Amino acid sequence: MNAAQPRSLTIVGAGLAGALLAILLARDGWRVDVYEKRGDPRVRGYAGGRSINLALAERGRHALERAGAEAAVMRQAVMMRGRMVHFADGRTELQRYGRDDSEVIWSVHRGDLNLTLIGLAEAAGARLHFDRRLDAVDFEAGSARFVDERDGTCAQIGFAALVGADGAGSAVRSAMQRATDLGERVEPLGHGYRELEIPPAADGGFRIEPNALHIWPRGGYMCIALPNDERTFTVTLFMPNHGDPGFDSVRTPEQARALFARDFTDALPLIPDLEADWAANPAGTLATLYLERWHLDRRAVLIGDAAHAMVPFHGQGMNCAFEDCVELAQRLRGEAPLEDVFAGFQAARQPNALAIQQMALENYREMRDRVDDSDYLLQRALELE
Ligand code: FAD
Repeated sequence: MNAAQPRSLTIVGAGLAGALLAILLARDGWRVDVYEKRGDPRVRGYAGGRSINLALAERGRHALERAGAEAAVMRQAVMMRGRMVHFADGRTELQRYGRDDSEVIWSVHRGDLNLTLIGLAEAAGARLHFDRRLDAVDFEAGSARFVDERDGTCAQIGFAALVGADGAGSAVRSAMQRATDLGERVEPLGHGYRELEIPPAADGGFRIEPNALHIWPRGGYMCIALPNDERTFTVTLFMPNHGDPGFDSVRTPEQARALFARDFTDALPLIPDLEADWAANPAGTLATLYLERWHLDRRAVLIGDAAHAMVPFHGQGMNCAFEDCVELAQRLRGEAPLEDVFAGFQAARQPNALAIQQMALENYREMRDRVDDSDYLLQRALELE
């Protein structure tokens, strides 16, 4: 590293990417400050808001291994060896991801994963500042304004360089966009999602096959269910925002029950609190974010969803964000000035992110449009490997 180069970085967002990058950089001797708008999940519990569990693939595991986080994360992971397809007529069929259990994916709980990474980041020496929402950035002065979410007070914090790990609605990105044109384009999918829960069985076990990613494909819409290690499943209903069915026509918990009774007959008895879940979990929106520029010279760089949010039909958003962290940390080990590091990082990661974004969209389109071709659908539906 260049002696004149600051060895300090300020990360905005202690989500999945921000926390992992903090571990990697702190271990490499960087002075790392992380500002997160939510409260400390170790004190107040995890305030989620997005998908409760996630499919972790090999590329994500590799990144966790580099951060020394793999063992802790895998202790809570549930193996998924294939897709369990639930046909409309009630038949089910397990389709393995590979020849044997050496080719599998894993279901991990977002909250547990985030807690693990935050704990490791702090242990590695990163300084975490919770309840601090980035509000504005003055790139000329090298200072950022953070609002304390508890009392509304503001603090002006100086930074050498900012890393935007603050997700799809990134405030860092908005601030960069005001300083230069990032070439931003957001393509809404027109579909959203809603989460429900399958609780454990009366004997405390799983109600359905635990080592599978369950899919109920129904053409223009579908349900999936991923296992959690506390013997529950998180069910996600993906559906158009408008139409029949769509989130504008299926609005109330009663309408949701009627939809499940008609189209997800075998899933309905597994979700005893469907109405309560429906009322408690608001519908989420889905979009793809395209960005021509991921960095503002040496002053700021974006990673994860802040740079390349994608629709979840390939199950790779987090995995891709984790790979960003490894790539950026690796490049920060060298001698190059920050501007070149950020430019090199973008050049290396942007084509990968774009390819995964396109695969995720293709999977979605094919699932929607080729509903009658069940063989084809089974092959392509939710290609998570
Ligand atoms: P986030 O996880 O969104 O973290 C951003 C953090 O920044 C948050 O902690 C937030 O509170 C904080 N923040 C935001 N604004 C500010 C601010 N102004 N100031 C300070 N802090 C701020 N990916 C997979 O790999 N596998 C899957 O199976 C999968 N399933 C998914 C299912 C659904 C329904 C959805 C929506 C996504 C799924 N993803 C999946 C994608 C995955 O969730 C994201 O790619 C991943 O969370 C990106 O991590 P991130 O750290 O970039 O952003």
